[in-house]
Amino acid sequence: MAVIGGDCLAEAGIVCRSCGDACGEVAIRFRPRIGLPPQAIVNEAACTGCGECVGACPGAAITLGAAHRESVP
Ligand code: SF4
Ligand code: SF4
Repeated sequence: MAVIGGDCLAEAGIVCRSCGDACGEVAIRFRPRIGLPPQAIVNEAACTGCGECVGACPGAAITLGAAHRESVP
């Protein structure tokens, strides 16, 4: 699944939804925060690992991690 790292522009105060726009599975949602732009959150269950969001990220903040886990502890 896609993993969003600390280089996400939102962590630097820049509003960005490029990953969400690129995701055909609508697996990335944006959680509102106070004081910072909305935080991108990957829905592990919906993410197919297609990688579309990786190339779309202007901050090069997204990596593809392990495939779906068998279960969520
Ligand atoms: S890897 Fe694909 S399905 Fe997963 S969040 Fe990125 S664009 Fe969406
Ligand atoms: S595209 Fe990259 S910089 Fe933009 S919100 Fe997604 S992870 Fe953050």
